[in-house]
Formats: sequence, C-alpha cells, structure tokens
Amino acid sequence: MLKIGFGYDVHPFEQNRKLIVGGVEIKHPKGIGLYGHSDADVLFHALIDALLGMCGMGSIGELFPETDEYKNINSSVLLDKTCLFISKKYRMTINNIDCIIISKSVRIAPLVEDMKNNISQIIKIPTNIISIKGKSGNGLGIGGTDQGIEVYCVILGDIIEI
Ligand SMILES: [Zn+2]
Repeated sequence: MLKIGFGYDVHPFEQNRKLIVGGVEIKHPKGIGLYGHSDADVLFHALIDALLGMCGMGSIGELFPETDEYKNINSSVLLDKTCLFISKKYRMTINNIDCIIISKSVRIAPLVEDMKNNISQIIKIPTNIISIKGKSGNGLGIGGTDQGIEVYCVILGDIIEI
C-alpha cells in the first residue's frame, strides 16, 4: 500500500560537540556542533521518524530511548536498525525521499552528494530518488538564527505486510 511518512527534528548548537549531518562530519567555522543524546545527526533522525511514520510504527524516541545503550551512538547505526525493525513487519519499496535542512551558518549544497550517498548505502536505495535541499531560514526561527539546525523530511513508499 502506498504510504507517506513525515519527519522533523531539531538539535541545538553547542561547544565541544561534533557536527554530523546526514552522516557527514562538518567543520563549523565557530567550532561548534550539535548537542543530543546520540551523535545528534538531525537529518538521519528526521529520516528515521519519516520511515517509522510511513509504516505507522511509532517514533524515534520510542525505538531508541535516551539510555546508555544509545549515548553518543552513530546515527547511521540507528538508521540501519530502523530499516531492520521495519523489515520484520513490512517489505518496503521507497518511491522517493525529500528533505529540507535549515541552517544559517552551514552551507548544505556542497554536502548534498555525500549525504545522499550515505543514505543510499544504509537504506539501500538509489541516490536519484533522494532529494536534499538547504535553506538559510532568512534570519528567522531556530535554523535561521543559528540556535541549531532543523530538518523536515517526507518519504513516499510502498509497504507490504509480510
Ligand atoms: Zn534528533
């Protein structure tokens, strides 16, 4: 059955943290990164919530609670585990993924190909069905005022119960 999934995530900037978005480690000019219980990969988290939403299988917070098991964990692992979790209930064929990353200080365009390649490898889908767009936020909101980075993500897919 054709289903749509929607995901959103936001993480605040903090000193002495890595900045990882879509599995890409980025050097921020101010030396700041994103704070979170895991590695705070805001794109992967929005993507996980969109995948779970598409399948009606809950949320990232339910699947990966803020326990020691997931402290500072690489979110690539969480994305992989999410696909495994879904595959126990559904055979999933993704039609396309569309993401918006909002950040004043991080230019997304030069990173898009690497992010697409990372998603492609983990979810095992071709890169040409993945769209990732960066927006500055025009000085408004969390991403636009550089308090953090925000991501919106939608997925359309066909899921068949096993
Ligand atoms: Zn998150």
